[in-house]
Amino acid sequence: MPARSIEQVRNLCKRRGFVFPGSAAYGGLGSFWDYGPLGVEMLNNVKKAWWRNVVYERDDVEGLDAAILMSRKVWQHSGHEATFSDPLVDCRACHARHRADHLTDDTCPKCGAPALTGPRSFNLMFKSHVGPVEAAAGSEEEMASRVYLRPETAQGIFMNFAHVQRSLARKVPFGIAQVGKAFRNEITPGNFIFRTREFEQMEIEFFIKPPQFVQPGEKTDEQWHAEWVEQRYNWWLSLGVEEGRLRRRAQEAAELAHYSKATTDLEYLFPDFGWGEVEGIANRTDYDLSAHSKDVPPEDLKRLKLETNADSVEKLDYFDPDAKARYVPWVIEPSAGATRAMLAFLCEAYHEELTKEPPAAEVDAIRAEIPAVVKNADKKAKEAEKARAKNEPAKHDPAAIATFCVALEEAAARLPQSLLEVAALLEDHPGAQNLEPVKKLAPKVVKLAEDCTRVVLKLHPTLAPVKLAVFPLKKNEAAIVDVAKRLKHQFQRFFRVAYDDSAGIGRLYRRQDEIGTPFCITVDFQTLEDNTVTVRERDTMKQERVKMEDLKHLLFTRLHMG
Ligand code: ATP
Repeated sequence: MPARSIEQVRNLCKRRGFVFPGSAAYGGLGSFWDYGPLGVEMLNNVKKAWWRNVVYERDDVEGLDAAILMSRKVWQHSGHEATFSDPLVDCRACHARHRADHLTDDTCPKCGAPALTGPRSFNLMFKSHVGPVEAAAGSEEEMASRVYLRPETAQGIFMNFAHVQRSLARKVPFGIAQVGKAFRNEITPGNFIFRTREFEQMEIEFFIKPPQFVQPGEKTDEQWHAEWVEQRYNWWLSLGVEEGRLRRRAQEAAELAHYSKATTDLEYLFPDFGWGEVEGIANRTDYDLSAHSKDVPPEDLKRLKLETNADSVEKLDYFDPDAKARYVPWVIEPSAGATRAMLAFLCEAYHEELTKEPPAAEVDAIRAEIPAVVKNADKKAKEAEKARAKNEPAKHDPAAIATFCVALEEAAARLPQSLLEVAALLEDHPGAQNLEPVKKLAPKVVKLAEDCTRVVLKLHPTLAPVKLAVFPLKKNEAAIVDVAKRLKHQFQRFFRVAYDDSAGIGRLYRRQDEIGTPFCITVDFQTLEDNTVTVRERDTMKQERVKMEDLKHLLFTRLHMG
């Protein structure tokens, strides 16, 4: 079963060095995150897997890395300065801010007084200035030096359409791919790295013939769109997302962005909040290239609802040598979030498992203590309510206790499979604090969970931050250590390899399982005699004896590198 909650994933990410809260020494900065040693490896792997799939493995896509800061005119003519905004509402009572289009009963102001202001349009682009400027906001001088941190990588691609096409003599249809940072001053960031104000995108602008130039037997814009939806959908599946948790959803007409003829979102079924967009595949027609071009014919301006662009010095069109005509290509845009993808892959990969059957007597003993825990918790909740009624300080939070009891009883009914879950509830749930029966029970459950369970990230090997861990069975045996270190050095040229000798083998395996390392190698006394090592596979936990000379072939094959 994948992660039950985002919290599980967030905890693991913090504990094991994937993702840390940003600016932590100063209490953090709203929804900015730092990618730690394992996070940066995994995020790089997501981006590399995407790049390999859409650039290397195709014949018709080139790469690009455009500057983050571009002329303000780009964002004026793309429509972002006027329309890249979300409707913002404030609660008059508690001043909490909300996105009007995201308001549901659950997200309604928690203060219980849903007295909202009317929606105001809030532009999501971060502003900055080029050069030293000390002018008042909105003044001519300020506007002249104003730049925006790009809210999408797409516009950098449109700016370079003609450069790439000409310098590589590309013929339409062809695409340009780009991976890079994007910034949006989101009104309500959250759900860990799902919605952040700084994130990374992986975008392709795929340029195709306009409908009137499509010859019989050639793909129409609608067919290209459908094909990209399928290709992108299959990419997610190929990296381990299960079909039941990935869906294609065609946007309703009312949802479509102003430039889009059709958009299909790929959505992943996240824990806690359900379906969430991980990628959108849009048919952007000839809107963007026309918007940035000079000399666009009036009929096209009218069709695309564009104004004449008096700022542009280029016409972003294309001479088609077969049709012997010039036209502005249409565009299919598959646009995915790299950081959001990492969250989806982590949720999908997160598993808690029994590694051996815990003794029935111990499980029964735990089950037997649950009613006493719940009874005591109820009592403390009632006491806290009474104290509150008298305006006295309460030792407990009745609401937290109520959710704790429901979760505990539900999880206890699934013992022993839920052993780790019960351990986590007893140790970490806010409603479990300061309860004597919990203090008594928790150590027993935690110990049993440590002995009989594991957390394992069943990441596709391509995405795993560390591909291989090498352990010496005895850290004081020079000959064993020597072989183990040599193995590490042999493979670290190809991928990230960990070396660990700081615990017993069982614990070392658990540590690597938790970060998704597909293979562990143990060097032992037998290695010194016959040059074989133990290779242990993460998901099956199967161990096999392998000759050292066969290791490279075995690892490369199973890591999908061959
Ligand atoms: P949403 O409706 O979630 O705000 P969007 O439709 O505005 O997203 P797009 O503009 O289509 O998103 O961006 C393409 C992709 O970029 C999204 O599918 C998502 O994966 C990613 N993305 C967009 N906004 C964010 C964000 N604030 N944080 C992380 N990833 C994001």
